[in-house]
Amino acid sequence: MDTVKSIIVVIEDDPQICRFLRTSLGANGFKVFEANSGEQGLVEIATRKPDLVILDLGLPRLDGISVIHKVREWSTVPIIVLSARSQEQDKITALDAGADDYLTKPFSIGELLARIRVSIRHAAQFKKDGIAMVFSEGDLRVDLVRRLVYIGAHEVHLTPIEYRLLSALIHCAGKVLTHRQLLLQVWGPSYVEHDHYVRIYMGQLRQKLEVDSTQPRYLLTETGVGYRLAYSGEV
Ligand code: CA
Repeated sequence: MDTVKSIIVVIEDDPQICRFLRTSLGANGFKVFEANSGEQGLVEIATRKPDLVILDLGLPRLDGISVIHKVREWSTVPIIVLSARSQEQDKITALDAGADDYLTKPFSIGELLARIRVSIRHAAQFKKDGIAMVFSEGDLRVDLVRRLVYIGAHEVHLTPIEYRLLSALIHCAGKVLTHRQLLLQVWGPSYVEHDHYVRIYMGQLRQKLEVDSTQPRYLLTETGVGYRLAYSGEV
């Protein structure tokens, strides 16, 4: 069978990380193009038409956040950002600017490959026919047409806000959503400062959907950033 390799553009100014990414992504069947500045990265994205971009946030001159803003003016290509521990706030800014996911350095190649698969699958699925009609993960099953939620055979009744919150997470299953993105999607633009809304409703959802709400299996916390709906299957 003729397999077309997915193309990844890596924008990173650290030669060691570049080498690590080139070797490990190459070994996993990806075609990698590198850029070591934001400006060069934009050129690579425009010319290579990649399936995914891996972007370091700490770049000289044109920083990672500015690169995201520029790319999002004309492209929906999935972007995974790499950030250092000291760049917590930048990570959130990057997601709000339109990055799809992030990894904190140092990260393992296993983690990176998992994030890449989720992001590429999402992009392909949305190009094809949007989200599936039924979402399922473990015992959780959500019929998105009838708006019915089940844990095993048992139907769970959600309030409209709880359902909107769950549905926002399902549409990005496996990917992180920031507090701000959830507030925008579920409550609207005038509520983006009300972080506690998300916490309260997430608590309620966990009470209803998780076996043990202190050890969630589905509704995972990304500390200081937001939430991620666990997802292991096909999107
Ligand atoms: Ca850097």
